[in-house]
Amino acid sequence: MLYGVSMTSDLEGLYSALLDRQYQPALFGDLEGFHSTAGGYIACCPFHAERTPTLLIHGSRPGYFCFVCGARGDWIDYLLRRKKDLSYGDAVGRLESEAGIRISTGEVLWRSELLLSETLEAMQGRAVAELWSEIGLEARSYLGLRGYTQEEIEGMELGLAPAAQSLHESADAVLSPPIREAVLEALRASYGTQPVLTIPCRDAAGRLMGLYGRDIRGAGERAYRPLTDMTRLRHVPFLMHRARGHARIVVVQGFLDALLADRIGITGVVGVGRSGLTPDLLATTVRYGARKFLLSLDTVQATFQAIDRIEAAGCEAEVVDRPERYPDTDAYIRDNCINKFGKLLEKTIPAKEWLSRNHESSL
Ligand SMILES: [Zn+2]
Repeated sequence: MLYGVSMTSDLEGLYSALLDRQYQPALFGDLEGFHSTAGGYIACCPFHAERTPTLLIHGSRPGYFCFVCGARGDWIDYLLRRKKDLSYGDAVGRLESEAGIRISTGEVLWRSELLLSETLEAMQGRAVAELWSEIGLEARSYLGLRGYTQEEIEGMELGLAPAAQSLHESADAVLSPPIREAVLEALRASYGTQPVLTIPCRDAAGRLMGLYGRDIRGAGERAYRPLTDMTRLRHVPFLMHRARGHARIVVVQGFLDALLADRIGITGVVGVGRSGLTPDLLATTVRYGARKFLLSLDTVQATFQAIDRIEAAGCEAEVVDRPERYPDTDAYIRDNCINKFGKLLEKTIPAKEWLSRNHESSL
């Protein structure tokens, strides 16, 4: 699937188009022992001498990682490492001609994005380990009280950042000093003194570009805050990388709500924050194939606004008829058997009907 040239003059669009075509076999298929696994592919690593497959190639993002020699990076980085005389322009050119689109991202921007995503991956990996350690007891009981099972928490890739000190320690562990200072400066130092759940936020191509925090001692929307600079994700709905190519999109408000819905097998789910379905977020979902939106937002106002924007964009909107006693999607899913939310999605109300109903009730 191609996303028009003018819309995708960036790496995110290029990588998304190639991921949709499952480009990995074309790029890594010449490696000895290359074969598919549950999460992607595995092959013998070309960067150290060994005949056992140790190079993990992700199925859902443009990344690779050797768990023996530690080589890791994205597809452009892989091409550059394999052929020393290849320039950045050559590597991008090869991907561009495969995808049939051109991008304008220069080498400096590519490197800074790669460094950011690799750093965040390493930090999030550490945060996941923290959540399952002794330190994570309070956070795990919080999640348990909310009704999440261990399997769900693992599948949601949640982590725990105990406090500011831990952020610096994890940066120490994964980065060399000059880079570390630059990265730490770029990260908003808002870990604070309270432990927070870390929620990985990925761009449309699945690259980790930000971490959101959920204060386990706080309540409501205020409990959520960005832990890192979110500029690169301003236009990306949460979980967009899993919803690419779906014509039917389920929009839920709240990150844990979206993760849970995705986890229980609802396809095409994206999450939006307290600003609802903003024009930017809507444009991105439409660019990646969305035509029909099923709205499960927390307020009548957010629903009105979303319907307006969706219809103005020439798409179709329907509203999930969640019983009124449930304030959010998550509460509904938790209180009912899993299939019921799926059933609810089959009985949505067309926007027109919902609008007339809610105009009447507001009179
Ligand atoms: Zn290796």
